[in-house]
Amino acid sequence: MDSSRPIALLATAGTSNRQPGPGTLATRQRELEAYQEVIRGCRACVEAGYLPAARPVFHGHAGQRVMVVGQAPAQPRSEHPRPYSGASGQTLRSWLAQAGFPPQELETCCYLTSVTKCFPGPSRSGKGDRAPSAAEVALCRRHLERELALVQPAVVITLGRLAARWFLGDRPLSELVGEVFAWPAPWLPPAQEGDARRQDLRGNGAPGEAGVLVLPLPHPSGVNRWHNDPANRKQLARALARLAELRRRLDLEPLAPWG
Ligand code: SF4
Repeated sequence: MDSSRPIALLATAGTSNRQPGPGTLATRQRELEAYQEVIRGCRACVEAGYLPAARPVFHGHAGQRVMVVGQAPAQPRSEHPRPYSGASGQTLRSWLAQAGFPPQELETCCYLTSVTKCFPGPSRSGKGDRAPSAAEVALCRRHLERELALVQPAVVITLGRLAARWFLGDRPLSELVGEVFAWPAPWLPPAQEGDARRQDLRGNGAPGEAGVLVLPLPHPSGVNRWHNDPANRKQLARALARLAELRRRLDLEPLAPWG
C-alpha cells in the first residue's frame, strides 16, 4: 500500500480524473452506509486494552471527490460529533479556502475520516492528543481501507505525518508537503507493463489515470510545531497552491448531491 512516488501534473487544461471503479455509485453508497455501522460498532481497541472507550468519528458519502485523512479525531464534545468541528477544523478550513474551497465544501466535497477513528486521549505531556500506537493503527486499518474502496476519492489530503505514512511510508513532512503523489488504489485494475497507467506512474501521464492523488499537509492542530515554524510556511503555501491547481484542473464536485 505504500508504493508511491511524486508525479508531475500536466499542463493540459480540462483533465478530469473521474474514474468509475467497480460498483455503481448507489451500490457503493449502500455498502458504505452498512460498513459505517460496522465502524460505529467497533470496540477492537477497547477489547485489546488500548482505549477506555470507543466512539468512532467520521463523516461522508460515496462519490465525494476528496478524502481528508487525519491522525485521529479530537475529543468528542457533543452527542453526534463531526470531524474537524473544533480549532483544528477552523485552521483546515482556512487552508482549504486558500486553495479555493468555499467553507461548506469541506463537508460537501470531502469525506472526513482518520487513520484511527476514536479519540486516543490526551498526550502525556498534556499538550495536544496522544498519537495512536502502531497497534491501534493496525487494528483500524481495515476500516480506512474499506472507506477508501467504497468512496473512491480522486484526491486524498493527508493531515500530519502519521496519516501521510499510511499512504506513502515513513518520510519526514519536509519531503512530502508541497508534492503530489500517485497512490495505486487497490480498486483500480493493476497496471500492465507498457500500458498507459504504468507510464503515468512514471510521471508522464494524466493525473486521473495514475491512481489516487495524495497531497500531504501538516496537521492543523495548534500544538503542531511543523506548520507553526516560519521556515515551513513556504512549503505549506506551495502545497495549497498545488491543491488549488488540482481543484481547477480536476472536477472535484461530488458525483451525486449526497452532502
Ligand atoms: S480506533 Fe478504530 S479499531 Fe480502534 S476501536 Fe475505534 S474504530 Fe475500532
